[in-house]
Amino acid sequence: MVLSEAKLSDGDSYIQSTFASRHLQTPLPRFCMPDNSIPKEAAYQIINDELMLDGNPRLNLASFVTTWMESECDKLMMAAMNKNYVDMDEYPVTTEIQNRCVNMIARLFNAPLHESETAIGVGTVGSSEAIMLAGLAFKRRWQNKRKAQGLPFHKPNIVTGANVQVCWEKFARYFEVELKEVKLREGYYVMDPAKAVEMVDENTICVAAILGSTLNGEFEDVKLLNDLLIEKNNKTGWDTPIHVDAASGGFIAPFLYPELEWDFRLPSVKSINVSGHKYGLVYAGIGWNIWRSKEDLPEELIFHINYLGTDQPTFTLNFSKGSSQVIAQYYQLIRLGFEGYKSVMENCQENAMLLKVGLEKTGRFNIVSKDYGVPLVAFSLKDHNLHNEFEVSEMLRRFGWIVPAYTMPADAQHVTVLRVVIREDFSRTLAERLVLDITKVLHELDQLPSKYGNDYAKGINGAISVPKDSTLETLREKTSKVIC
Ligand SMILES: *Cc1c(COP(=O)(O)O)cnc(C)c1O
Repeated sequence: MVLSEAKLSDGDSYIQSTFASRHLQTPLPRFCMPDNSIPKEAAYQIINDELMLDGNPRLNLASFVTTWMESECDKLMMAAMNKNYVDMDEYPVTTEIQNRCVNMIARLFNAPLHESETAIGVGTVGSSEAIMLAGLAFKRRWQNKRKAQGLPFHKPNIVTGANVQVCWEKFARYFEVELKEVKLREGYYVMDPAKAVEMVDENTICVAAILGSTLNGEFEDVKLLNDLLIEKNNKTGWDTPIHVDAASGGFIAPFLYPELEWDFRLPSVKSINVSGHKYGLVYAGIGWNIWRSKEDLPEELIFHINYLGTDQPTFTLNFSKGSSQVIAQYYQLIRLGFEGYKSVMENCQENAMLLKVGLEKTGRFNIVSKDYGVPLVAFSLKDHNLHNEFEVSEMLRRFGWIVPAYTMPADAQHVTVLRVVIREDFSRTLAERLVLDITKVLHELDQLPSKYGNDYAKGINGAISVPKDSTLETLREKTSKVIC
């Protein structure tokens, strides 16, 4: 496509070949901006070609984030690429569309609203931003209450399970709130509600429960947490609230488990976040936070800007952002409706079961995920004598599959798992294919000597401690980050 059409005068020739053109023959500088311009076709080709070396997003089974949307929605998104979401006065329809999404999602989560009452919520870049905002609201509410009572308000803490996603650690560090984590144990990889409530004290701004643990997809028992917390609040006179991090499960539970009480049906749940770009079925770049009521979002956190036109309330960390994702979320909500989301989620669940059964049939894995939860399969090797999960992960890359291996957090660090997230676009054919390829990898590994030596492989299982500077340790560090 890139035809060199450079003028003869600058020493170039009319080479009718894409890759023999001068621009593609000389490598571009990597650390400073090049002095000269290049033709647009050449720039496109160079970048496009380098990007071919990225993994294929559709085969990236590490991520919960959407990798496929209908072409009609792609079209809407492309058309909105040049719209800055924050210019609400200039793009009132986009603003209205975001508000419709907030209202629909709030009602999906059973917010106590009258028929036409406006819900309190905000569109964000993802769950991480949503969680920062939710956390700030809890912190401010707690501080205001403590100040009014004449009590110290400088040592806020938050209680979560050790399985929380990294954004909670970020929130705690960035906004100076102590993170009190309930430790896990082998075979139990979510927050124990009783232990969490035990850790609550007068400085606790909220307990954060996860609907769909990142590590194994399991739902935490929000109902039990709610009941135990109310009991404690009644005894102590505190009113410690709950936030539900439903980043992945918020668009699963309402469709697959409508009876499960995890949302605003529980009185202690004051806010909920969800990633629109996970099972909300939109490409990366959108999340939501919904508050139970106006009282749960302190007014002083809301900024009112008027220099873009009329008064606009905003409560976000960033100012400018694209509009495409908001529009795409609206597309999915109205295009699929409850019926459509339900069938997508049921299909994901069935494919997860298919994969789980396939893996069980190999006889080589323990399944660490639950049938009840986010559709994913987390599994670990039964036998670590010769090989470990990191090697399985590495070898699957050769088939194009991206399946991460990672270690569990405290106190279950000695457990390593592989995790396959089932998204809408992971078809049955691909599920069957993956089982086949995993079987091939196992056969191949069986023929190979242990890569790290027998002792190291055993070390993974906790039997022998692994030397700090070993290759294995480096490999573990590199791969233990959970991508989601
Ligand atoms: C993915 C995830 C997050 C972070 O969400 P982003 O939308 O990627 O910012 C937070 N918590 C949980 C439980 C998650 O699964």
